[in-house]
Amino acid sequence: MEFEIWWLLAFPLFFVLGWLAARVDIKQVVTESRALPNSYFRGLNFLLNEQPDKAIEAFLEVVKLEPETIDLHFALGALFRRRGELERAIRMHENLLEREGLAEEQRLRAQGELGQDYLKAGLLDRAEEVFHKLLQTPQHGVARTYLLEIYVQEKDWQKAINAARELQNDTSKPLNADIAHFYCERALLDAARGHPDAAAAHLQQALASNRQSVRANLMAGDLDAAAGQHEAAIAYWRLVETQSAAHMALVVERVLGSYRQLGRMEEGVQWLRALYARQPSQDVFSALYLAVSETEGALAATQLAREELRRNPSLRTLDRLLEAQLINAEPGERELLQVEKSLVAAHSQRMMRYQCDSCGFKAKQFFWRCPACGRWDSFDPERQESES
Ligand SMILES: [Zn+2]
Repeated sequence: MEFEIWWLLAFPLFFVLGWLAARVDIKQVVTESRALPNSYFRGLNFLLNEQPDKAIEAFLEVVKLEPETIDLHFALGALFRRRGELERAIRMHENLLEREGLAEEQRLRAQGELGQDYLKAGLLDRAEEVFHKLLQTPQHGVARTYLLEIYVQEKDWQKAINAARELQNDTSKPLNADIAHFYCERALLDAARGHPDAAAAHLQQALASNRQSVRANLMAGDLDAAAGQHEAAIAYWRLVETQSAAHMALVVERVLGSYRQLGRMEEGVQWLRALYARQPSQDVFSALYLAVSETEGALAATQLAREELRRNPSLRTLDRLLEAQLINAEPGERELLQVEKSLVAAHSQRMMRYQCDSCGFKAKQFFWRCPACGRWDSFDPERQESES
C-alpha cells in the first residue's frame, strides 16, 4: 500500500472529532447531575458510608422533589419490604399506582410489588386478589409463582396442586416433587379425619406425580401398619431404600416395630444388620443397637457399640456403649458409670439435630418443608451432632 499525503491531514481531523465527542459526553453528565437534587448525592454518600437509614431519608426527599424517579420508588419499596417495614413498602407502591400517566408496564410491576408486600405482611386475601388480576397480563409467570406460595401458606392443597401444574406448563420448571408433597398433605388430612382409603388414593397420586416420593411410601407404610397390615407396611418402607438410602434413618424404627408386631424380631435384626453395612448412619446404628440389646442381650450390644465407636466416634455412640456396660457392671462400678452415662446422654440429646441444607435451620424434629426458608425436601434425613 502506498503512502498518500492526505493521510497526514486525516490524523488531526480524527483527533478533533474524538475531543468533541468527549466534550459532549462530559457536558451531558454535568447537565444530568445538575438536574438531580443534592439529596441524591447525600443519599449515595450515606450508602457508601454504610448508614442505610440516613440514605433512605435522603432518597425519600429525592422522591418527593422529583416524582418522575420511578426506579428509585421501586428500589426504595423493595428495600422497605426486605427490611420488614411493610407499611412503608405498601404506601410506596400504592402511591405509585395512584399516579396518573404511569406506563402500563410500570403499573403492572407496581401491582406485582404490592402483592409481594401483602404476602410478606401475611395479608394473604389481598395478595391473592392482586396476583389473580395479574394472571391475564404479561406478569402471569410471577403471579402464578406467588399464588402457589399463597395456597401453600393457606394449606389449600388442591389449589396448590392446580397452581403448580399451571406454573409448570407456563415456565417448564419441574414441580413434580412439590406436587407429590401436596398430595401427601391431602393424605395426611384424610388420615386424620378417619378416611384411610382416600388417604391411600392420594398417596398413589403422589407417586404418580413423582416416583421418587419417599414420603408417599413412608406414609403408605404408616397407613398399612395402622390397619394392622404389617407385612405390607414393611414392603412399603423397604422400598424407601431404592429411592433414597439416607431416608432409611426415618424408616428403621418403623420397620422394626412391625417385625416386633409380627413376632419376627430376629428377621428384623438380620435385615437391619445388612442395612447398617450399606448405610452406616448414626440413626441406623441407634436402631440396630436397641434391636440387638433386645434380641441378643447386653454383651452383643456392647460389642456392637465398641465397633461403631472405633469406626465413627460420637457422643451418641459413647452413650450407647456406657448404657450397655451399665447393664453388665459390678455393683461397685455402677454408680460412677451411671453419672458418666447421664452426663453424656444429656449432652448428646441436646446436640442431635436435623438441619436444612438450604438455610441451615436446625430442629429436633424432621420437616419435609423447612419452617424457616419454606423449601421442600431440604432437610437432611440423618441427624448430626451439632454445637448449637
Ligand atoms: Zn431452610
